Amino acid sequence: FAPWNDPNAKPFIEFRNVTKTFGDFTAVDDLSLGIYEREFFALLGPSGCGKTTLMRMVAGFEEPTRGHVLLDGQDLVGIPPYRRPTNMMFQSYALFPHMSVWENIAFGLKQDGMPKADIVARVDEMLTLVKLEQFAKRKPHQLSGGQRQRVALARSLAKKPKVLLLDEPLGALDKKLREETQFELTDLQMRLGMTFLIVTHDQEEAMTVADRIAVMDRGKIIQIATPAEIYEQPNSRYVADFIGDINLLEGRLSSVGAGGAKLECVGTGATVDVAQDVSARVGDQAWFAIRPEKVTISLTPPADPNVNAVSGEVWDIGYLGDVSIYHVRLATGATVKSTITNTTRLVERPITWEDKVWLSWTRDGGVVLTR
Ligand code: ATP
Repeated sequence: FAPWNDPNAKPFIEFRNVTKTFGDFTAVDDLSLGIYEREFFALLGPSGCGKTTLMRMVAGFEEPTRGHVLLDGQDLVGIPPYRRPTNMMFQSYALFPHMSVWENIAFGLKQDGMPKADIVARVDEMLTLVKLEQFAKRKPHQLSGGQRQRVALARSLAKKPKVLLLDEPLGALDKKLREETQFELTDLQMRLGMTFLIVTHDQEEAMTVADRIAVMDRGKIIQIATPAEIYEQPNSRYVADFIGDINLLEGRLSSVGAGGAKLECVGTGATVDVAQDVSARVGDQAWFAIRPEKVTISLTPPADPNVNAVSGEVWDIGYLGDVSIYHVRLATGATVKSTITNTTRLVERPITWEDKVWLSWTRDGGVVLTR
């Protein structure tokens, strides 16, 4: 499933040069984006970057100031929310407290004038879908947070919209339940074969649920890619820093060419050699970005002369159970982090505080970023 790699595939939801202003504030800035049918797409970014505004324009709660939002080729501008084939699930769930689970799910169907027998069948189908059959008669206050979340989900799916819009849907759940629910959501999305658009500021959540992620900053999209590409090939310091843990070291390009570049790295005090086409000029400022798990730590210099290597001293070790993060201070004063997987019991550490160590990484271990 990767329609974004198919040049003939047509987007299902399309933003064409969309700008949204509130007074003189620009919340969404000339943004274009295509989301495909059956895709689970995440809008990710810090608070205020415009992701909710973008989603609300699909739902019809906001209209673009300029540009167009299309669904299945049809321009949505001017169509009221209730006539759009979309449904939005809010973080607050917005369940009716005086109604039972059953009535909450049936509410929209009744309003639409669906025949009674059809409503009964549909509500039962939805209750089964979210595994809440035994809870039909309960009121929202008699449910756990996770169950309320599932009622809200069932209610948003009851009308079988073409697109489900999820606004921070798991924000109210604790970490463990959140992680479980993320898998339930992806499972549900695949079983229904629907298009899901989720807004979140939680990078782990976006990585877990989404087929593709758009990372946003101040009304613009900085990068659109799969979770693995976003993580391994961030296109900027902004994305590199926003997603996961990363070492970012400043330098200047000393050589660029097909399949390789060299960076005189102020941070490491050494030349960093990368296997990457860098579209910039010799002399340009750039940054070397490498994930801690791509940096190997050892007590002796690496034997392979083709790897990048620098030496330093261990000044901190963070034990996280599955991994330990070594903070190594280099002669330049910079700190580089290296992660070790704790596959064996580390009662006595092979590498410990104040050890003189070598850090090494392969040419394709990290990336050079020019912005
Ligand atoms: P959050 O995660 O905090 O909801 P967000 O990325 O979803 O953030 P938006 O809700 O899209 O951000 O808001 C983007 C910007 O637009 C914010 O600065 C917000 O204050 C502003 N904004 C949103 N709606 C309105 C409105 N109705 N009137 C004025 N400003 C608004």
